[in-house]
Amino acid sequence: MLQLFALLTAALVSRPASIPPVESPVAIVGGTLITGLDDTQIRESAVIFENGRIIYAGKLAGAPIPQNAQIVDAKNRWLIPGLIDMHVHLDEVITPEMFLKFGVTSVRDVGSRLVTIQRWRAKHSVPHIFWMGRNIDEGTPSWWGAVAVKGPAQVPGLLDDMVNQGVDGVKLYVNAGPDVARSVIEQAHERGMPVTAHPGKTSPKRLSEDGIDNIEHVSQLFLDLCDASTSVNPGYFAGYKRAAETDLYGPRTKALVATLNANHTAITPTLTVSIMPLDKNETRRYAGWTSVPPRWRNEWKRSYWDFISTKGWTTKQMLAADSACSNYRKLVTLLYRAGVPLIAGTDTPAPNVLPGAGLLVELELMGECGIPPVELIRSATSRAASILRREDDVGAIAAGRCADILVLTADPTKDIKNLHKIERTYHDGHRVKR
Ligand SMILES: [Zn+2]
Repeated sequence: MLQLFALLTAALVSRPASIPPVESPVAIVGGTLITGLDDTQIRESAVIFENGRIIYAGKLAGAPIPQNAQIVDAKNRWLIPGLIDMHVHLDEVITPEMFLKFGVTSVRDVGSRLVTIQRWRAKHSVPHIFWMGRNIDEGTPSWWGAVAVKGPAQVPGLLDDMVNQGVDGVKLYVNAGPDVARSVIEQAHERGMPVTAHPGKTSPKRLSEDGIDNIEHVSQLFLDLCDASTSVNPGYFAGYKRAAETDLYGPRTKALVATLNANHTAITPTLTVSIMPLDKNETRRYAGWTSVPPRWRNEWKRSYWDFISTKGWTTKQMLAADSACSNYRKLVTLLYRAGVPLIAGTDTPAPNVLPGAGLLVELELMGECGIPPVELIRSATSRAASILRREDDVGAIAAGRCADILVLTADPTKDIKNLHKIERTYHDGHRVKR
């Protein structure tokens, strides 16, 4: 009975909120189609979907448009897949509707409680949620959102429990040592799930060698680039100080980048969470297209957020943090040039990082590291979907996938800032009210 209950729970939570099926098919015609899969752009395109799934995406000429289809004219418009934010904390998000408003139709939650995931999935106006369960630590949990095992022997049991809760993957946290990390990677892969990590006690290079799918935060890669004596969890300012003082152009960087590349380890840089909380003028990055709602301004004043606050910092400290951020950007450039797969994630809702809008800022910041717009779009669509192992569902405008589609009034491949110009959003085939 207990087992049956667990199975039922898993089935319930792993599905997005039940939405009534669309009555008639929709055909978006005449626009320029960017599928998210590769560099090709299809002018004069047609995208047809029905009951939440895409049934055709390609040339308008010869497209099988059903007689009863609702036709949407997309002349002088650009179509891209709904965006995926690969690093969010829904436990702390107070405005669920903001993701869809900014074109984010899927999120990967990296550590919220089951009750939060269930509550969110019961709502209609929220993105698809891919849940990585509670963060896995060893010994003592390093924050309230983590669970800790005593050693590798406890890993299979923990992962079985997490599978029963309906997780879509798992995330290692700061206190997980090398043996636990290796066991989690092996056991998760045996269960068909991807693994990511916020590294601490296990070096990113070691995680990559052990076959991890993904590593969070470019800032954490500095664990492998500085002296071994540096603390694994140095505290907020010390983390910046460590990166500011690191020589990026030595053999350690070369060795790390080569390892990540050889093992196809994807990196989620999360530049926003390093850069945005430092910005005293929080609206600078949002100027001209959105603004920080008073609800969020008040939320981020709570002492809860002091663990990532610059309150009381000296000018010298602020300058050190700035040069750390410039090292983060340089490392992102090196990773990109070497061919290491990069995916887009924000750490929403860290201070100044708004749900949805934060992802557009992340893509701009990644763009400032020299990554071209088409690649940026892939990092937030098809490449993200492949790290989620959900290529059949999300991340591209292609037959069979969810009808998560953005219609833009300007070409995002010319300037990534054109992602601000969303005219229509379809989520599971439903037009999102703006
Ligand atoms: Zn995070």
